[in-house]
Parts: sequence; structure tokens; C-alpha cells
Amino acid sequence: MIQKIDTYLNSITMYKITVYALCAIALLSIAYGFLGILPFNAISLIVSLSVIIITCYISNKICQKISNLPTNNDSWLISALILFLIIAPPDNYQSDILITIIASAIAIFSKYIFKLKNSHIFNPVALALLIIGIFGFGNSIWWVGSANLAIPVAILGFLVVRKIRQSGMVFAFFITTLVTISVFSLKNNIDIVKSIYEVVISWPTIFLGTIMLTEPSTMPATNLQRKIYGAVVGFLFSFQFSFGPIFSSPELAIVIGNVFSCLISPKQKTILAFKTKLKIARNTYEFVFEPDKKLTFLPGQYLELTLNTTTNDTRGNRRYFTIASSPTDTKVRFGIKFADAKGSSFKDTIFNLRADDKVLAGNLGGDFVMPKDTNKPLVFIAGGIGITPFISMIRYLTDTKEKRPITLFYANNTKNDIAYKDVLDQANKKLGLKTIYLLTNKNLVPKNWKGEVGYLNEEIIKKHVKNHKEQIYYLSGPNAMVDSYKNLLAKIGIPDKQIKTDYFPGF
Ligand SMILES: Cc1cc2nc3c(=O)[nH]c(=O)nc-3n(C[C@H](O)[C@H](O)[C@H](O)COP(=O)(O)OP(=O)(O)OC[C@H]3O[C@@H](n4cnc5c(N)ncnc54)[C@H](O)[C@@H]3O)c2cc1C
Repeated sequence: MIQKIDTYLNSITMYKITVYALCAIALLSIAYGFLGILPFNAISLIVSLSVIIITCYISNKICQKISNLPTNNDSWLISALILFLIIAPPDNYQSDILITIIASAIAIFSKYIFKLKNSHIFNPVALALLIIGIFGFGNSIWWVGSANLAIPVAILGFLVVRKIRQSGMVFAFFITTLVTISVFSLKNNIDIVKSIYEVVISWPTIFLGTIMLTEPSTMPATNLQRKIYGAVVGFLFSFQFSFGPIFSSPELAIVIGNVFSCLISPKQKTILAFKTKLKIARNTYEFVFEPDKKLTFLPGQYLELTLNTTTNDTRGNRRYFTIASSPTDTKVRFGIKFADAKGSSFKDTIFNLRADDKVLAGNLGGDFVMPKDTNKPLVFIAGGIGITPFISMIRYLTDTKEKRPITLFYANNTKNDIAYKDVLDQANKKLGLKTIYLLTNKNLVPKNWKGEVGYLNEEIIKKHVKNHKEQIYYLSGPNAMVDSYKNLLAKIGIPDKQIKTDYFPGF
């Protein structure tokens, strides 16, 4: 079952999953409105949704024109749908259409106003709600937290979290929320079970933890930082406090969490000017960019690229790519694999970039980096284009002349799919890197092939790696490959803490 879900999720981009999930909740709410299941009538919900969508769309167009920066075509719609699910619809709770319009405009404009190095700081909807609250409109009733919507929100939220593989952060948020509520209930002699039930079912806990907390631009870069961020927001969300006129609220929890995230993991968005592309294997090219300012990152980390265009398929204009260059390089390079059949319009556009065309790079992240201890023996296992984080590390080690004990297994379908052979050959000579190539298509193995044939297995690992149980294993490649090699390592007794993974979805 979970495998089927993963295969489905792999075929859709992260932002589209979020848009589809939010549309589903919005439509269900309107249906509930017609059936009288929610305390609003369907017409006021439809009016609210229309006003918010129109205002967010127009505001986004204005901001795009003024800033002239590439923007994600799905972001404004995601903000609009989230706002719709939180703010009271007109004619209910004395809400006014003007307040809805103001909140929608603030949400979109805030992304362009409150930013650091081109990266927005605050969750746009949370900030808009906080501002209208401070001015006394008090409109954020978080009606998506209604008990009638809890199960659909939980299912759709689970899909979003599964897609972006952020269960650690979301788990930290839920645990902290539940612990805080339990302590509060104990202290005040309130029935703990009843309190927990209420927090999960009748508060916007699931929606906030799965859909809002996971906004990529406002979360920190590494898994540990993300877990701390989840816990901080969980605590602020469930802890009842007030400072003068300011009271605890879900939007305040997120906004304070965003400031915290910014402090522990400074944001940067960089404009990259396209320079050239070099063919490095069958259907695979290295794209070379000039950054507008020096990019700070660790070898093995990734960036999200946004193209300055709308795309004519449903996959959108943003993708994550691992940085294939070393931090010592003045250029920024990405190794990008193109589909055999008709690819996405994102890939068509990036393939046809012309000299000095601009691309926006942001949301730097990732823990797939080498350990601080340079003596730790490492085994890198790459499948196809999953070689890119290792290329960044190997280029860095070559540039800095830092030697580490590394064995690299590099699996490809055919010999023509092997990318970056020149970089690896050089590292084999200069750093003593041990590279073992594997060809998985047994029918297309050349006669004089000196590497291994078939998929990586226990026998091949033991043949090339001494003390195989003492190594740290790094797995990088398409989802199915990483999952199956993770199982293989578990079978040969490698503990989980000695395995690091980097998933390349979409293939
Ligand atoms: C952290 C991270 C790091 C990554 N690093 C890299 C990297 O270094 N290099 C890299 O190449 N990728 C990397 N990826 C994957 C990358 O982000 C894309 O998901 C991947 O390249 C697929 O791109 P695409 O969706 O444009 O599809 P394509 O590559 O164009 O196609 C992939 C498959 O989808 C099919 N397809 C394409 N468009 C459609 C459509 N409209 N409808 C139906 N099917 C379609 C194609 O036929 C093909 O089978 C990384 C992903 C993550 C999350």
C-alpha cells in the first residue's frame, strides 16, 4: 500500500500535491456548507474563496511585475487556499469582505516586503492573520480545525508530509504539542485524554503541522534544525500565554517559529546567470551558472531552482537539484538528467536557456554531507544522476587536497549513462578514491568491461569493502533504488545510524 502511495507521489511535484490537497479540502468544505455540516453556508464560502483567489492573483501579478524575480506559479494559490480555510467567510462571525481582501493582499505582499537576501521570512498567511488580528479585526477562526474535517485533513496532510519526507519535523511538532497540553491539563486538573482528543480533533493542529509548518521557504536547512523548529512551533502553539494585548495563537506560533528558523538557519536566495551546458552522459548535462553573490553551502546540499516562466504542464516551474560543484568553485553547477521520452516543460525550458538568462535559487538544505571526522571510512552508493552530491564532495576534496577513505559504487543502466567519469578518474589518481562501476543492463555490457555487472549485492560489497560493518554508507539516487539498497544494507547488518540517504524523486 505505502509503495503504491509513494509511486503515485513520485509522479507529482511537491507544490502540486499541496495544491491538490488544499483544493480537495476547500471543495469538501463547500459541500459540507451545502449539507449544513459546517457552521457556514456554502454561498458565503464560495464568496470568500472567490474574493481571496482574485485578490491573491492580482496582488501576485503586481508583485511579480515590480520585483521582476522568478516566482513559483503555485505559491500564490497555496497561500490563497490556506487563507480561505482559516479566515471567517463573510456574513459569518461579523466578517467583512474588505477584511478578507486586506488579509489576502497582505499575505502576498508580505513575501516581497519581509525578506532577507531575496528569501521571504514569514509564512505569508500566518503573518497576514497576525497583522489583521493586531489591528483588532480578529478574524482568524481557523475553521479548518473543525472536527468534521479532521480525517480528510489528516489523510491529505499525510500525503504532503510523505512527499516532502519531513516526518521528523512534523513528529516533533505533534509530540511537543501533546506533551505541553498534557502538562497543562495535569497542572489544572483537566482530563488529559479529553484535552488531547480536543487538540487533535477540534484544533487546527493537523492542518498547521502538516500543511503550514512544512512550507519550504520558512523551514531551516537541516533535519536536526527542522526537528527543533517543529518542537518550538508545537510548544508556542499549545502553550497559552499573553503579553499585554498579544495573546497566544496558531499564527503567532508560526511567525515566532519563522524568526527562530531564520536565526538558526540564515536564508539566502541567489540569482544565477546561465553560462553554458556540457554533455556529461546520455541525456545528462552539466549546467554552469554564475551566482550574483557567493553561495555558502556544504558539499552534498541541494537548492531549489525557479525558472522565470510559466510552464505549460501541470508540474510547475520549480525543482530541487543537488549542487554538483564544490564550494571552492566560483561557478555553481548542476548535473541534470533528461527523460528518454517527452519530459516536463521545466526540463524543456532549462535545456533551452540562453547565455545570461536568470534563474532563482533558494531553499538550500540537506544533511547528506560528509562527517566532520575525516578518518571515518565512507562507502558512497550512487544510482544514475544520484552521483551529483558525491561529485560535489569529491571536487571539494580534490580542490582542498583532503584525503578520506572512500569507496564509491556507481550503478548505471549502460556505460553511456556514466556521468563525470573525468572527475572520478582524477580523484582515483589524486585522492586514492576507489570507484567501482556497475552496469545493471546485462544485455548492453561492452566486451572489455572491467567493472561489475548487475545490481549491487552483498557479495559485491564484501568483495570491495574491507570491514564493511564499520563504514558509513551514503545512498543517493531514484527513490526505488535508495529504498532497495537500504534494505540490502539492513540485511547485511549495517545499523540504521550508519546509513545516510538522499532521495531523487521524479524519475
Ligand atoms: C533533494 C533533491 C535533489 C535532486 N537533485 C537532482 C539532481 O542533481 N539532478 C537531477 O536531474 N534531478 C535531481 N532531483 C530530481 C529533480 O528535482 C526532478 O524531480 C527530476 O529531475 C524529474 O524532473 P521532471 O519532473 O522535470 O521530469 P522529467 O525529468 O522531464 O521526466 C521524468 C519522468 O516523468 C515523465 N514526465 C515528464 N513530464 C510529464 C508530464 N507532464 N506528465 C506525465 N509524465 C511526465 C517523463 O516522461 C519521465 O518518465 C533532485 C530532487 C530532490 C528532491
